[in-house]
Parts: sequence; C-alpha cells; structure tokens
Amino acid sequence: MSTAAPILLTPGPLTTSTRTRQAMMMDWGSWDGDFNEMTASLRERLLAIINGQDSHYCVPLQGSGTFAVEAAIGTLVPRNGKVLVLVNGAYGQRLAKICSVLGRAYSTFETAEDQPTTADDVDRLLTEDRDITHVALIHCETSTGILNPLQAISKVVASHGKRLIIDAMSSFGALPIDARELQFDALVAASGKCLEGVPGMGFVFANKQTLDQAQGNSHSLAMDLHDQNSYMAKTGQWRFTPPTHVVAALHEALLQYAEEGGLPARHQRYAQNCKTLLDGMSAMGLSSFIPADIQAPIIVTFHAPDSPNYRFKDFYERVKAKGFILYPGKLTQVETFRVGCIGCVDSRGMQGAVDAIGQALREMQAI
Ligand SMILES: *Cc1c(COP(=O)(O)O)cnc(C)c1O
Repeated sequence: MSTAAPILLTPGPLTTSTRTRQAMMMDWGSWDGDFNEMTASLRERLLAIINGQDSHYCVPLQGSGTFAVEAAIGTLVPRNGKVLVLVNGAYGQRLAKICSVLGRAYSTFETAEDQPTTADDVDRLLTEDRDITHVALIHCETSTGILNPLQAISKVVASHGKRLIIDAMSSFGALPIDARELQFDALVAASGKCLEGVPGMGFVFANKQTLDQAQGNSHSLAMDLHDQNSYMAKTGQWRFTPPTHVVAALHEALLQYAEEGGLPARHQRYAQNCKTLLDGMSAMGLSSFIPADIQAPIIVTFHAPDSPNYRFKDFYERVKAKGFILYPGKLTQVETFRVGCIGCVDSRGMQGAVDAIGQALREMQAI
C-alpha cells in the first residue's frame, strides 16, 4: 500500500476534508447528552437542506445507503402495496431486488441506460395498472451519471394520488430538491456522498403523516424506520448502537457545507469539476456516454479508448500511481470507465486528474 493519500474520484466513499476526518479523533458515548445534541443538530441541518421541517421527519439509520433504501421501502410500503420501479441502471435494478426480497409486489419499467424515464411513461403506466400504490425512482443513476426528471415525475405521481419513494443518494445536497415544491413519501440519501462525510449511515426524509401511520409495516426489527423515529423522539437516542464517529464526521461536514455556501455553492463546485473533466477528456478525444443535457454533475461515464492496448486494470493502476482513484464502468454492452466529480476536490484537482489520465493513456500507447 502506498502511504500518500490518493484523491478518490469515486462517488462514495469519496475524498473528505482533513477537518471532517479530524472530527473522528474523539470517542462519544451513545447515551451522552452532547452526542444526542449532535444527532438532533444533524437531523435539523439535513431537514433544512430540503426545507422539510414542516412536512418530513429525518430518520437516520446505521449502515450504507442501501440499508436506508431497504428500510424506507419496508417501512413505508404496506405489505399489500405494489411498487412501480423505474429502472435505467444498476441502482434501479437494486430497488426491484429489494422489493422482491421483502416480498412486496412490484413491476418494473426499464429504459436504456442513456434514456431518462419520462413523466409521460409514468402517467401511462399508472393509468394502465391501478394496483400500483407506490413509485420508486432513482434521481441520479450513479451507474452512468444520468439524471431522471424528478420534478415532472413527482407531479404525475401526485396527480394519480400515488406515493413516491426517491433514491437521491448521489444527488442530495448538490442538486436542488425542495420538499415544499415536491411531493414524496420518502427521499433517501447517505453520509458519504455529496455531503462529503464518511460512509456508515443513511437517512430517510419520511413524510410525517405517512410514517406515523406506518407502524407494523416493517418485516424487520432493525430496519423499522417507524420504530427508530419514535424511539428517537422519546429518548433523543438512536435505537441501537449509533455509528458515533460517522455522526461526528457528518456533523462537521455539514458545518463546512454551510460555510461553503450551502447547496448552491456545492452544486457550483461540482458543476465546475464536471466541466473541467468533460473539457479535458474531450480534448484528449475521449467522449462521455451520457448526452450533456441529461448528465448530472456527479459522475461521468467515459467510453474507453478504442485501442487494443487499453486494459482497465493497467489504466487504473497507472492513474492510482499518480494519485487518483477512478471507478470501473458498470455497463454490460460497452467498455467504459467512470470518474466522479464529487468529494472535497475543486477544479484544480480535477485538472490534475485529467492530466494523470492523459499521461497514463500515453504511457499505455492507448491514445
Ligand atoms: C451510493 C448509492 C446507493 C447506496 O449504495 P451503498 O453501496 O449501499 O452505499 C444507492 N443508490 C444510489 C443511486 C447510489 O449512488
């Protein structure tokens, strides 16, 4: 293992600030008043990002992001509900798998990996199948970087009187989402993505009325958000051992988020990172898989160079030796690799990554 810390251009875990990592240098008791105040402050700060104080609870949950998605579906979809899952990548497929494992009825609607789901599709599907009670959607499909039209889909779902569950894991905190303008039962995200905390906890913004009525829906003790929320309301504590260091790091990351200028500033930095990346790669003759107008400034999928000398593993190791960690592609049909735009990195850092990628490909004689 090399000792110099590389810059992670991966969409979680990602590069965190020194200050965020230093916040983990202390041990906290889970019963302690100071720790519980930190949890309360964290929940308030998270709710403020979506203006959700009046309409939603913020329910934190131990585990990676998928744990929180699974908990949201298990807690909010009644056992006799039916979920329409919108799929255009691996995370959408994971939503369907969760429904299947939990034994919730579901159907899927799948578009190509470079095609967003449209509100018209959803309108037609909800008209055709009256049994559907919930729609589940990935906001930014991190397997490619495609952005789905959340606002328009939420309007259609609401107009049919159905409920919406949003996996906003890789967009929350960077792309605007306002609970006063958008109707949803649950919006799910996690500590280690655009908020630039460390991985280890997810959180669900759950509609207050819906969650209050969700007692007994969950098939699971540990993943029951209703129970987690009512225990927290009564005691100020997490129901089971909290990820104390992760909470402390996320709290510190949220202070820096506010200092940077909140969502608009975070969005602008990532958009600039994305532009630096796209411009630099395009100058090298490398094209992105997703068209610019539906590309989220979160992660970019690039076509691999069309050269017999290109091998991802070799490429990866060479770029890593220059200080940057990339991500493999997640497409089955075409050879790609991915570069994240999120984390504690600015456009200078991204230019460094572009230069390292160029050098590595020239060494390989792949461009
Ligand atoms: C990161 C991510 C998740 C959660 O993945 P974990 O590996 O469980 O943290 C879920 N959905 C999307 C869209 C993501 O980007």
